[in-house]
Amino acid sequence: MIIVEQKPFDEILAMLEGHKTHEILIVGCNGCAGIYQAGGEKQVEVMGMLLEMAHKLKGNNMKTRNATVLRQCDRQIVATALKPVIEGDEVILSMGCGAGVQTIAETIEDRFVLPAHNTMFIGMQERELGELHEKCKACGDCILDETGGICPITMCAKSLLNGPCGGYAEGKCEVEDYTHDCAWCQIYEKLKRLDRLDLFTKPRLPRDWRVSLSPRNL
Ligand code: SF4
Ligand code: SF4
Repeated sequence: MIIVEQKPFDEILAMLEGHKTHEILIVGCNGCAGIYQAGGEKQVEVMGMLLEMAHKLKGNNMKTRNATVLRQCDRQIVATALKPVIEGDEVILSMGCGAGVQTIAETIEDRFVLPAHNTMFIGMQERELGELHEKCKACGDCILDETGGICPITMCAKSLLNGPCGGYAEGKCEVEDYTHDCAWCQIYEKLKRLDRLDLFTKPRLPRDWRVSLSPRNL
């Protein structure tokens, strides 16, 4: 899923202060952001309370309303859910990912749509540890079939296709001072366990980065 992180609250306040209106529609997303409790109904509610409180302390009145949609990255859902409810001079504060912000901005063209989140990566949630880990850079040419399900584009600091490089020591990567596992050492161990070291020694040609030129469309 897409991993987002809330911007510092002062940054969100500063973004809103750039606009004349004191009417904010805070929009949550029950997709990725809602699933791991970064931008679902509860977080939207808390954001509304915090914004109103912060403005009261400054002697201003701010009126917030909430709406949480099934998925902010679906234009039809956004149009159906938000067009009928937008009021007055409201600016929209999105608690989805960057795709959500842009989908709302394209669909409701007469409003500013502001991002409450920074969109970080495509990743996996380790629920018990409360951690989120990057897993995929959406490279457009997946080779997980050759690497035992470990992505070298994402997990190797140099995105090498034929590793490991000379910078590993005791299974750790030189980048970031040997604090992370070397992806290619992990790939080696995995393929060895699976008795497929032929895949490890197979030379891989340089990637054709033209398959992932932005913006991409399907
Ligand atoms: S190779 Fe890695 S970055 Fe590319 S699609 Fe597969 S998981 Fe994603
Ligand atoms: S040490 Fe391993 S993870 Fe680090 S850059 Fe080299 S191959 Fe990639």
